[in-house]
Amino acid sequence: MEKYLLYINGQFRESSDGGTFKAVNPASGEVIAEIAKATVEDTRAAVDAARNAFDSGIWSELPREERSRIIKQIVDKINENARHLTGLEVADSGSTLKKAGEDVFLSAKSLNHYSKMALLDLNEEVEGLSKPGVSKNIVRREPVGVCALIIPWNFPLKMAIWKLGPALAAGCTVILKPAMETSVTAMELARLIDQTDMPKGVVNIICGPGSSIGTELTSNPKVDKVAFTGSTEVGKTIMKSAAGNLKKITLECGGKSANIVLDDADLETAVDGAIYAGFYHQGQCCEGGTRLLVHEKIYEPFVNLLKEKIERMKIGDPMDKTTNVGPVVNESQFNSVMDYIRIGKEEGAEVLTGGKRYGEKGYYIEPTVFINATNDMRISQEEIFGPVVTLIKFRDDDEAVKIANDSVFGLGGAVWSGDDARALRLAERLRTGTVWINEYHLLSDRAPFGGYKQSGIGREFGLDGLKEYTEAKHIHIDEIKDRTKKTWYAVVVPQDNGS
Ligand code: NAP
Ligand code: MG
Repeated sequence: MEKYLLYINGQFRESSDGGTFKAVNPASGEVIAEIAKATVEDTRAAVDAARNAFDSGIWSELPREERSRIIKQIVDKINENARHLTGLEVADSGSTLKKAGEDVFLSAKSLNHYSKMALLDLNEEVEGLSKPGVSKNIVRREPVGVCALIIPWNFPLKMAIWKLGPALAAGCTVILKPAMETSVTAMELARLIDQTDMPKGVVNIICGPGSSIGTELTSNPKVDKVAFTGSTEVGKTIMKSAAGNLKKITLECGGKSANIVLDDADLETAVDGAIYAGFYHQGQCCEGGTRLLVHEKIYEPFVNLLKEKIERMKIGDPMDKTTNVGPVVNESQFNSVMDYIRIGKEEGAEVLTGGKRYGEKGYYIEPTVFINATNDMRISQEEIFGPVVTLIKFRDDDEAVKIANDSVFGLGGAVWSGDDARALRLAERLRTGTVWINEYHLLSDRAPFGGYKQSGIGREFGLDGLKEYTEAKHIHIDEIKDRTKKTWYAVVVPQDNGS
């Protein structure tokens, strides 16, 4: 069986107490690899490595072209090993082959984009306080320093890249901690990075429990920033833990996004879109369209077609190219989703389709839609993170906006309509970080992604995303050579009053 070791300071090592854990395939329950489980001591070693690498300037002071070249080497390694990485991602996470293939492709594409962003000179000269010729003002964007990157299990490789890319492009050094549930592709990434010219200690990758090594990473005073993707609950814990040395934090947390179907939407497209929005990767997407708001005028035909189409979806082996729905990631997630299905029924919502376990082996759940639901129910307010969509009827655009915004989250959402102008007006009123019009899930390397309200702090992607890994420094160069003309001259130098 494959064994993965911790990657610290450019070396692969066993954990300090020899501990390991097993990577399990959720479709079969089979153990696919053994992984070294980092201790707090290992975590400190990884932080020290990243700190020393940062302080030495070995990465932050490299010419931009050189940083870009080395990041590009990682891109090439991912592309060369795409098939292997895809297979591992399917086996470790229950992603369907199609989703995992896409994830690997998009990881390489995204990192390639960051290799180009590494070339950007973000420093600029801005106008001074008063007249020209008084001062020159430079705003520099410098790397924030040592970054702890903590990621979840739903898009393992992609999330790793979304954090590594901008951190490395900005000149930071990092400690990446994948979710224990899905650590395999991150450890493969360590092997690939080790084959490039990346200086030792710049990238450290360690696996282990968030409760111990995650806490060490977020509280260690040698860490300058924490970039986290995961649940809102853990995000709040991290904010507290990071307060000790006032670390910079970016949090990409949960969501309960409204997917709004207007009465003038193309029915067939909107139904397909609703299925894609709600059930892609078994609904284990933070931005998923889990509250499906449907205009009352098209409610009947929409619901009928939705049920028919969902019931034609193929549930099964994620390695089968024709599979639409794979298993959820593990037993505890399975139990938690099944619990929410029970809660929905108890709250008085009605199951339109699904609602049950599928088969006897593996953590499969039928894609489930609740109807006759209201927005105050727990199944409308809480993140379920599984194949469960709550469908709510609305009367007009104002009511749709009101329901959509009645949430503690604000991550994604969509509007399906035949009228772009109407959809855009509605999109502008949603308190959420991303809105798609007649689309879902698609993110752009060039546009920011992140959450309003309790969906997060800060943004990923685009210039906003890169700047999150920088500190802004203002350098004021005074150009007044005659000291008596300094604005403060009269304040500090005793003046002869002439008497
Ligand atoms: P999670 O339980 O919050 O865990 C996320 C990561 O944090 C894991 O690596 C976990 O480690 C670690 N962690 C747990 N407790 C920690 C602590 N006290 N200190 C530091 N790190 C800690 O989330 P998940 O269950 O893996 O993922 C699902 C959640 O992620 C959902 O809420 C979803 O909405 C959110 N998500 C958000 C986005 C976004 O971009 N907004 C994207 C994807 C997912 P271990 O699990 O290994 O112990
Ligand atoms: Mg696994």
